Amino acid sequence: MNSIKIPFAPISKPMEASAGKTGLWRFLRPEIDVQRCIKCGICWMYCPDAVIVLDEEGVPHIDYEYCKGCGICANECPVKAIKMVREEGKP
Ligand code: SF4
Ligand code: SF4
Repeated sequence: MNSIKIPFAPISKPMEASAGKTGLWRFLRPEIDVQRCIKCGICWMYCPDAVIVLDEEGVPHIDYEYCKGCGICANECPVKAIKMVREEGKP
């Protein structure tokens, strides 16, 4: 599958949304398998809190300070490179 070329444009930066810092209460955590990732940028486009940034090579990185664990990124990833895992110590 060909990856979509998205011009590097740092228009989206992780920031504190209405949910505030989520590290303490989030119970699911998205983890990206970079070997599987095709660098399409879809997770970056869909994250409602703009907590995913793409580096210069198009690899996505998640800011876990503000990620609320909604799972939209995992749901939208076309190659299932994002897995939602339970946070340690959470029911
Ligand atoms: S789980 Fe939700 S908030 Fe966290 S990176 Fe994915 S889409 Fe963004
Ligand atoms: S949606 Fe999936 S394949 Fe696309 S950049 Fe995000 S993790 Fe990589």
